This record gives sequence, structure tokens and C-alpha cells, in this order.
Amino acid sequence: MGINYIYPQYEIVRNPNRCIKCRVCERQCSNDVHSYDAELDVMKADETGCVDCQRCVSMCLTRALKIVKTDNQFKENYNWKQSTIEEVYRQADSGGVLLSSMGNPNEYPVYWDKMLINASQVTNPSIDPLREPMETKVFLGKKPGHLEMDKKGNIISEIPPQIELELPIMFSAMSYGSISENAHKSLARAAAELGTCYNTGEGGLNRGLYPYGRNTIVQVASGRFGVHEDYLMAGAAIEIKMGQGAKPGIGGHLPGKKIGEKVSKTRMIPEGADAISPAPHHDIYSIEDLRQLIFSLKEATGYTKPVIVKIAAVHNVAAIASGIARSGADIIAIDGFRGGTGAAPTRIRDNVGIPIELALAAVDQRLRDEQIRNDISIVVGGSIRSSADVVKAIALGADACYIGTAALLALGCHLCRHCQSGRCNWGIATQREDLVKRLNPEIGAERLTNLMRAWNHEIQEMMGGMGINSIESLKGNRLMLRGIGLSDKELEILGIKHAGE
Ligand code: SF4
Ligand code: SF4
Repeated sequence: MGINYIYPQYEIVRNPNRCIKCRVCERQCSNDVHSYDAELDVMKADETGCVDCQRCVSMCLTRALKIVKTDNQFKENYNWKQSTIEEVYRQADSGGVLLSSMGNPNEYPVYWDKMLINASQVTNPSIDPLREPMETKVFLGKKPGHLEMDKKGNIISEIPPQIELELPIMFSAMSYGSISENAHKSLARAAAELGTCYNTGEGGLNRGLYPYGRNTIVQVASGRFGVHEDYLMAGAAIEIKMGQGAKPGIGGHLPGKKIGEKVSKTRMIPEGADAISPAPHHDIYSIEDLRQLIFSLKEATGYTKPVIVKIAAVHNVAAIASGIARSGADIIAIDGFRGGTGAAPTRIRDNVGIPIELALAAVDQRLRDEQIRNDISIVVGGSIRSSADVVKAIALGADACYIGTAALLALGCHLCRHCQSGRCNWGIATQREDLVKRLNPEIGAERLTNLMRAWNHEIQEMMGGMGINSIESLKGNRLMLRGIGLSDKELEILGIKHAGE
């Protein structure tokens, strides 16, 4: 205690009338918050380690616990908020870069919440999804300019490789290493059950998950961890990661303590060594270089896999996307600045990049203006929180969405935002065997499947309400959206009218 003392952010409130001193909370907390004092026969709490992950609250059978945000405050003002002051103290103490996880939490506009969806009334009647067929299947990849058929009506045009999805949602890239083996197993099983894809992230593919290959997108990032011929052949598509919404312009760092035997084998790096992926790909400095990598990967896989190029949503994103569409990529994935991550420098996470809604609208419009929209599919991620966000994204021009944080929530994540510590009490963002065991992959897969089925049903209901029975008819159909409380410039970029018009 002294100059560097910061009062804990959360306080444990334990109801003595309910607590039976079973010590479950003590065993469940990887941050050593709870302890039992045998001499005094009381449960104690050291809140300095509490991250409000809610594990103890959920596991306490007598409902004796709650965690509350402290009301102890620095003398803050509009300019110097509690968190800003705390961060200065922390850096003055450590001299280090501040690290955080999950997405940008700041109060920038969430444009999804400023767009409203249309519904049919008299003409173009709505469709009841319980009685009428509704098509939510999507194909991702380059589409031919026109189709040639033989006399029997069979398609004879050569169709470039596609990813076929039963619903317009995939699980976004999360590497083995940043998340646990059981989290990956849950995602893989759910993707197979749903007829969609999950994504390896930059950590390679554990051999045990090869059977899920047709539901797997294998990523090639700047560190090239775990990339080899079998890996490339194993997936349904290959994703080149150029950027990530949570930390645009910088690489990644998985600390050596998370590189155990299995992770080291999968990533093809020594056990205990830090896994550092550089900020740029050291062989890509232009669109021509990117094209070379795309075609090297296509060549290596016999032109059987679509190639995705993933970028962060940044300034001039439309021009960047136009270059990528011309580079031979089949799909572009754009990640907004609210996208989650296992660890990112706080300053980058909170200040770099742009909202996915604006990036998506700008990219779709640019590709249409240049008449190359059919040359590439668009997948967006970076805080898609509900089926309504998916519908709005598709109406703005996306072919499909990636979800990350929502998928982790389904697995039990309580958004404590401390993934970087490696001590996730829910068995997700950790490699500690005792914690990993807490996530049962069967239950995890079931919960993910439930969530996606619920969303898909809601998507069908919203489509039906608009009188649309195919997701393809919704794509880029901005007439189905209206803005609320947006400036003329924002409406112009989003390409939508204001509510009431
Ligand atoms: S889990 Fe609940 S009942 Fe058990 S010791 Fe902790 S607070 Fe008390
Ligand atoms: S994955 Fe775990 S550590 Fe990360 S935010 Fe969720 S609960 Fe917290």
C-alpha cells in the first residue's frame, strides 16, 4: 500500500446467514480471492484479484455471494475519469504497455442500434416462416458472371470453389493457445452440427480436430504457426489474416506460459517459447505480393479451396477491399474495432480502427460501383451481438457474419475481460488443465447449437416480416433499413434513409 495503491474495482458481498463455509468459492477461483480462516472459522475475501468473472457467484449453492462494483472513487471529472487515472498510475508503476482483452468497450456509436428493420403491411405481404419455406443457405466465394447450361438444364459453367453454409453465420478466428482445446472442440462440433464453419485462428489445427475439416477454416497468419500441407488441405477454406479488428496494424503475442506440450506441437514451436506473430507478413508489401500468396495457397491445394483475406476495418477500407477483390481472393473478411481478442494493447484496442457498420457499407458500395461485387463475398465480424445485427449486416451488403464474443458467451464467458491472464475460470481462455476441464465440449457444442438455431429462427422471422423468403434477396437490400438519430453524413455512408422517409 502506498503511492501505487489502487482500491479494488469489485467488492465481494457474502451473506453470513446463507454461507455454509463449504469453500466451493475458494476452490473455484483461480485468482485466489476466497480463503478460509480456520482459526476464526470464517470465509475471507482478498478482492485485489477479483475480475468479476462471476464463477463463485454461479457456483455458490446457497446464493450467499454477490460481486458489486466498488463505490470508492478517485476525484474524477469529465476529462480525467477513474479508469484514465488508474491507467496512468499503473503505467507509472510498471513502465509497461497496458494489456486488455475482448473488444473496444468505449462509448463510440453502435450503428446497429441506430438502424431499424422494415416490415411488410398491405402490399408485398409478409411470409410465415413456420408454414412457408425460408432459405438461409449461403455460398461464399467468387460467382461466375453468367451461367451456361446444357440442354437438360444442368450447369456446365465452371464454378469456383465455394463454402456452403446452412445459415449466414460462422464462428470467427480464435486460436488454440488463446482459447482451450475444449473451447475449440465445442466450436468444431457445433459447426459440424449446424452446417457452418469455425476458424482455427493463427494457432494451427490440433490433429484431433481434423475430422471436422469440412467445417473448418484454416488460417495463415504472419507467424505461419502450424501451417503445413496437411493443414491447408484439411480445411474447407484458407484465411490469410492481414489484420484484426481488436488490434489493427500490430501482430500478436502468446506468452510462453500458455505454450504447453499440445499447443507447442500444434503451432510447431518449442514448448514454453513466446509465440510472436509479426505485425506485417514479411513477404507482403503490396497487393501483388498478396496475390502471390493467394495463388501459392491455391496452387498448394489444387485450386480446391476458396481463399479468404481478413483485414481490420480501418480508414480507406473500401479502396483496400477493391485491391483485395482484384488480387484473386474469393472472400474478404472485415473485422470491426469492437472485435474481441485474447490480448491487445489497451491503447490500440480503444483507439485504432473504425466501426464495422460503416466499413461494410463503404466496401459493398465501392465493389458495386466498380462492378466487381460478384468477384468476392463479404464476411463481417467485430461485435455481431444478435440475429438483428446479422439481418442488418446482410441488408447493408454482407454475405455472412463471423461471431466470436457471442459464441464465447454461449460457452460460459462472463466477459470479465481478463483473458490475457490465462486464468479463465470458465475454462475458455486458458491452458491450465484444471480450468480447461471445467468446459465440457458436449455441453459447449449444445449451447452454441442452441444459440445459432435460435438466431436462425429469428432471422427467418425478420425476413418473413419483410416479405423476403431468401437470404440472397436480403443481401445489400438497404431499402429494408432506416436510420434513427444519424447525421446526413452517416446516412450517406451507410446508404440508407432516415426513419420516416
Ligand atoms: S461457495 Fe458460497 S456457501 Fe460456499 S463458502 Fe463460498 S460463499 Fe460460502
Ligand atoms: S473468456 Fe474467460 S477470461 Fe476471457 S472474458 Fe470470458 S470469462 Fe473472462
